[in-house]
Amino acid sequence: MAADSLIGVTETAITYLDHAASAPMRPEAIEAIMPFLTGNYANPSGSHRFARRTRQAIDEARDQVAVVIGCRPNEVVFTGCGTESDNTAISGAVARRGGVAVCSAAEHPAVLQVVEHLGGRVVGVDASGRIDLEQLASTLAAEDNVAIVSVMAVNNEVGTITDLAEVGKIVRRHAPGALLHTDAVQAVCWLDLRQVTPEVDLLSLSAHKFGGPKGVGILIERGGPQIEPLIIGGGQERERRSGTQNTAGIVATAVALELTDRERESEAIRLSELRDRLVAGLQRQIEGIVETVVPDRKVAGSAHVCIAGVESEALLYLLDEANVCASAASACASGAMEPSHVLAAMGVDRGVALGALRLTLGYTTTESDIDRAIEVIDSAVRKLKR
Ligand code: PLP
Repeated sequence: MAADSLIGVTETAITYLDHAASAPMRPEAIEAIMPFLTGNYANPSGSHRFARRTRQAIDEARDQVAVVIGCRPNEVVFTGCGTESDNTAISGAVARRGGVAVCSAAEHPAVLQVVEHLGGRVVGVDASGRIDLEQLASTLAAEDNVAIVSVMAVNNEVGTITDLAEVGKIVRRHAPGALLHTDAVQAVCWLDLRQVTPEVDLLSLSAHKFGGPKGVGILIERGGPQIEPLIIGGGQERERRSGTQNTAGIVATAVALELTDRERESEAIRLSELRDRLVAGLQRQIEGIVETVVPDRKVAGSAHVCIAGVESEALLYLLDEANVCASAASACASGAMEPSHVLAAMGVDRGVALGALRLTLGYTTTESDIDRAIEVIDSAVRKLKR
């Protein structure tokens, strides 16, 4: 990736393997954003023609988003981020229906912390990070009133894919009145959402994970409003999320989403080959390195390994010095010395989990990024083991 596109880093090339934390914005999305930052600034709720034009741009973006997600345009709610979409789904379901919220132990904090805050139930996961279906069934059967079950489509740390059809069957059998929500923030680049959406009632996305801007989220509410809004006020987004819409961000999000969808299949093939080359290269060079989840259970762009005898914090420091961008856990948790809650829930030994390294690939990743990453990680690990 060209270094001068990263503010403040100009002297050497950046090897950016942190796409799951945030993807670089697509040039086409930047181009789409500009007219709404410069000329077309009217409030989309206004009553003049200038405002009508911005409203029309949001409507067109909503139509584009609905096609990729496989829902109706009036089921698309634009929010401020993935976290807001997750919070709205869970808090809004409990506020409307009473009862408890249930989620898996491997959820992103944007789900897990809300469920815990509301006194909900957390269901264990297997060694790959997939929700334990038997435990889910018994948890749901033991509750009188389940408001919502939230299970992520793809895990943000280890990349594991959830079989949402299986989860849906269990929810319908043991908690037929409950809503099913999925945090699909990490799924967009890898899974066809048209096949995911029909399995759930609510679905969350975040634009900056697929080449859109930061500060735009999407919540899909299928079959009409079934939850309370989190933000009330001017009644935008048909009373489901008040606040003046981020017109520029929404337009760019739709462009990025369409491009991601169009390139998804070919990119998954290209990037799974690069991911395999990366993991094989690391395994060849470094002793005591273990791939956390086998490739056929996870998305193409995810390489997660644990390196025995190495602490992630120290390794990330050396990688940072060499301009290799990676992470240890989710970006929100990096910087903490505790092993990730996802690895702990998967039963990964604490000592092993402290050597976790997440490398995530995306549309800008090239073969030379992979080769450079192998070289830099190998040399950093040797230094730390010395
Ligand atoms: N859910 C998952 C699975 C994520 O990976 C993230 C971001 O890391 C979020 C939710 C939060 O999204 P945002 O950064 O837009 O708030």
